Amino acid sequence: MKIAVCVKQVPSDNKSLMDKKSGTLIRNGETSVINPYDLFAVEMALRIRERVGGEVFAFTMGAGSAKKVLIDSVAMGVDGGYLVSDLAFAGADVFATAKTLSEAITFVGGFDLVICGRQTTDGDTGEVAIALATHMNICGLPFVNEVVEIDEKNITASCDFGKHNAITKCPLPAVISVDKDCGLPRIPSLRGKLSAKKAVFPVISLDDLFDKNNNNYGLSGSKTSVLRIYNTVFETSNNIIKEGGLEFLKGKFESVKKGDL
Ligand SMILES: Cc1cc2nc3c(=O)[nH]c(=O)nc-3n(C[C@H](O)[C@H](O)[C@H](O)COP(=O)(O)OP(=O)(O)OC[C@H]3O[C@@H](n4cnc5c(N)ncnc54)[C@H](O)[C@@H]3O)c2cc1C
Repeated sequence: MKIAVCVKQVPSDNKSLMDKKSGTLIRNGETSVINPYDLFAVEMALRIRERVGGEVFAFTMGAGSAKKVLIDSVAMGVDGGYLVSDLAFAGADVFATAKTLSEAITFVGGFDLVICGRQTTDGDTGEVAIALATHMNICGLPFVNEVVEIDEKNITASCDFGKHNAITKCPLPAVISVDKDCGLPRIPSLRGKLSAKKAVFPVISLDDLFDKNNNNYGLSGSKTSVLRIYNTVFETSNNIIKEGGLEFLKGKFESVKKGDL
């Protein structure tokens, strides 16, 4: 089975995340790490490879510094990776990100399964996986916490929809996004780290893609734009009053009665 796993480079903290003037995310390769949820995606890909055999390749769309997350993925055990990078891809929203990843994955070709993390810690929309499935015109299963069965034709997985799980079967090729309950990501071995040092990652640019129209990528291909960035102000007008040894909230939560506590 040939598996693609999508990994994104995200800032390692949430300080100075947005440029207030341009409304875009501030990218700094030095303080960036692999998106924590994508470690679970890599782990899931490796577990499926262990179960049914095959190969796993990581894809990341980003600037040159994003190669770091491919190195981390190889250190964990994936077989190789592709850096999807071109100035034409800059400023992409969910729609354009998914379009670019779908074109890159199609360009490499032959994948039975694409695995994404549940969400990122910067953009945080949790929508790329299903947008990717839509662009590729294949089935998408979100928030997978367990792969119940998988063979060369189908995948059956348990999807976490909050209050309930849904066990769903769909034909391959498919895209899934995985949750953090799917198994602890492994720690890179010394052997993995050494292979990662030697790994060469092909760069996929606009010229390689089947659709070379740059209006379909990056800022031009995006359907959304940020109008304003502002800090949220948390206000509280509640007082805590003591009555008979119990504490009650007054103000916004005035309707909470003694019997409710
Ligand atoms: C309205 C809006 C405007 C934006 N404008 C800008 C902008 O101008 N400049 C800018 O830099 N960013 C911008 N962003 C952020 C950027 O669009 C998102 O980072 C991108 O769309 C991916 O979405 P996400 O981070 O929410 O991914 P999610 O849907 O939360 O991620 C799910 C999974 O998809 C995969 N994935 C997501 N992105 C990548 C990637 N790049 N490479 C590989 N795998 C990936 C990962 O497996 C990840 O776990 C904007 C976001 C929004 C909502």
